[in-house]
Amino acid sequence: MDPHHPYDPPKSDKFQGALTSRAYPERTQRKMNRYDGEIRFLDRQIGALFAFLRERGLYDDAVIVIVADHGEQFREHEKQGHGYSLHNVEIHVALLLKAGGRRGEVERTVSITDIFPTILELAGAGPRANHGESLLDPSPQRLAVLSEQVGFSLERGNQKAIVDRRGRKLILGYGEDDWSAVAPETELGTVGMYRSRSDPFEEKPILDLGLEARLRARFYEAYGKVAERRKGRDVPKVTLEEATVERLRMLGYVGE
Ligand SMILES: [Zn+2]
Repeated sequence: MDPHHPYDPPKSDKFQGALTSRAYPERTQRKMNRYDGEIRFLDRQIGALFAFLRERGLYDDAVIVIVADHGEQFREHEKQGHGYSLHNVEIHVALLLKAGGRRGEVERTVSITDIFPTILELAGAGPRANHGESLLDPSPQRLAVLSEQVGFSLERGNQKAIVDRRGRKLILGYGEDDWSAVAPETELGTVGMYRSRSDPFEEKPILDLGLEARLRARFYEAYGKVAERRKGRDVPKVTLEEATVERLRMLGYVGE
């Protein structure tokens, strides 16, 4: 939880200067430095956890996954925080996997839904349908990954995105009048299309109607399958304690 608002790292973890090539206004940069300080603090805590595992002789066999639930926007797309858009700054998170002595880097675009099948594979359990693709899979079938925001307020937006294997990304969104509509057949407007690898801050939208049409068609095909699976699923109802609801609300995961 530390790299979340309010950014208030211990003094020893404070950052100075800039960590990215992009120039930010001074005030924003100071805020980012405090955020980076929180990440440094968290990094040290993870180090302490690793030291503990080593001490107990548990580290070598442990499968460890480090991932974030989201990034943070510092006004790259007019907002501060997260939950506003599906731009890289909000959804391109760190994903590190330690599994025995394996080493390597996965070049293709992946999704955090791939973590579950990866762990199943490492545990020697068979693959399960509908849960991404194992990161260890040498010949993955998927052509693109999806990302979705389930909006609960106009301000937070209600975007959907598709990123192909080469990092070409199309962000779609609803108009302001129909933000609550989530039917896959609803026609979505284009928020922007980017080469998210060479343009990580997504500041140079690509204008290519052919590519847009192809990504859009691919999105509707893949999202249609997701929506179909959701329809047939019986989601068990759970009752949350008021304190839990309050915490989720503070994090922005429950509407007012
Ligand atoms: Zn979070």
